[in-house]
Amino acid sequence: MTNRPKRRPGHSGGDDFVCVVCNSRVSAQAFGTRQRNHCPRCLWSRHVDHSIGDRRSACNQAMEPIAVAAKGGGEWTIVHACSGCNTIRTNRVAGDDDEVALLILALRPLNNPAFPIETLRPGY
Ligand SMILES: [Zn+2]
Ligand SMILES: [Zn+2]
Repeated sequence: MTNRPKRRPGHSGGDDFVCVVCNSRVSAQAFGTRQRNHCPRCLWSRHVDHSIGDRRSACNQAMEPIAVAAKGGGEWTIVHACSGCNTIRTNRVAGDDDEVALLILALRPLNNPAFPIETLRPGY
């Protein structure tokens, strides 16, 4: 993962980008979000913002999707962890994010439990 071909950060013009992980061409415009910051297919992001939307981070490393968090009203956010500096970010799910990829991410703890789920009994 560390020796991926380097892509030049922040080519000017639109904010379209090529996903560093799956090579999809990603349009910055997406339904349900003003500023797309992650790939709709593999959900990986890039650490380009110092604070949201400013594109001023010097890190620029790939950010791994590690979890889905649910807010009220059925809104999902993706939790990203930077592979370069370990910064944790949450990002709103975009309207065209891959639903299967989102579900796999949401189910990850259940597929890899920290304790044996099948032996659990109700505690009352
Ligand atoms: Zn991707
Ligand atoms: Zn970073």
